[in-house]
Amino acid sequence: MNKPVDLRSDTVTRPTAGMRAAMAAAPLGDDVFGDDPSVNALQEKIAGMLGFEAALFVPTGTQSNLCGILSHCQRGDEYIVGQMQHCYRWEGGGAAVFGSVQPQPLEHQPDGSLALADIEAAIKPDDPHFARTRLLALENTLGGKVLPIAYLQQASALARSRGLATHLDGARLFNAAVSQAAASGTDARSEARRIAGLFDSVSVCFSKGLGAPVGSALCGTREFVARARRIRKMAGGAMRQSGMLAAGAAYALDHHVERLAEDHALARRLAEGLAGIEGVQMEAPQTNILFVDLTGPARERSAGLIPALANEGVLATGLYRLRFATHLDVDAAGIDRAVATVRSYLRA
Ligand SMILES: *Cc1c(COP(=O)(O)O)cnc(C)c1O
Repeated sequence: MNKPVDLRSDTVTRPTAGMRAAMAAAPLGDDVFGDDPSVNALQEKIAGMLGFEAALFVPTGTQSNLCGILSHCQRGDEYIVGQMQHCYRWEGGGAAVFGSVQPQPLEHQPDGSLALADIEAAIKPDDPHFARTRLLALENTLGGKVLPIAYLQQASALARSRGLATHLDGARLFNAAVSQAAASGTDARSEARRIAGLFDSVSVCFSKGLGAPVGSALCGTREFVARARRIRKMAGGAMRQSGMLAAGAAYALDHHVERLAEDHALARRLAEGLAGIEGVQMEAPQTNILFVDLTGPARERSAGLIPALANEGVLATGLYRLRFATHLDVDAAGIDRAVATVRSYLRA
């Protein structure tokens, strides 16, 4: 039996032997008392890397965004956000449910951005009819797309000029940074810092392509992070000997940032392999996520494709639009098996 190829998400990675060793060796305390040295070290490390005063380690990216939005906004405030962003669409409406903060969702442009004119038009005047527009939340990467740095500069300048705070859901910030570094011949860590520097707060996931089992960090000013800490407590996210988890995340920051380029290369390999199969349409992947649209007869037979892939040990999601995510537990042989299976299923 071939090794399974799990392309459903980059969340499925298992910690490597080196990461497990770092987790097992982590010095521990009680983070609710603020004395877990491994949590404190991770928070200082990610804040320093991204150029912030402080950071907060949280169990999930969902909680990180929730703590971020609720630290920027009060009851009756609103945040401007994209229709497809995680912190609008995929978090159970948490900001509205737990914080009475209203989202103002906008349609995305084809490159994943929100048009500046749409943002401008969505900002409400100070009038008792309206919720108070307080925050612009963006996401990078969005569906694997890298928002252009020039756009981020303009969007953040617009928000600032209108008195809005800015939050970046950077669950995959380092994928964006690695891609940008490859295009501009710089290094990923300075690109990550350049992107993060345009926002008042940034959330980063360690459990996606970085390969840690659990955890995200929310970065901002010391005062912002102190507010977020209260919300994390209310949300039930203040953990105790969480240094074991933080050590895995710190290991990922030391060892798994630059290697994201390998995941991007595998996504390109997958796209190149699938190109030319009849009924398969896609845009070239910019990072580690590939969406594949099925058309014509291929679309009619799409319901059987995911099961046929699973039969060969290849896992993916979707129906007419398939989604494949590459990560550190996938190799070229696995990608080639995925290509061969799609080809033989659609040809049969
Ligand atoms: C995965 C993800 C999150 C958070 O996910 P959790 O499963 O809650 O850790 C947030 N934003 C984006 C863009 C994501 O991809």
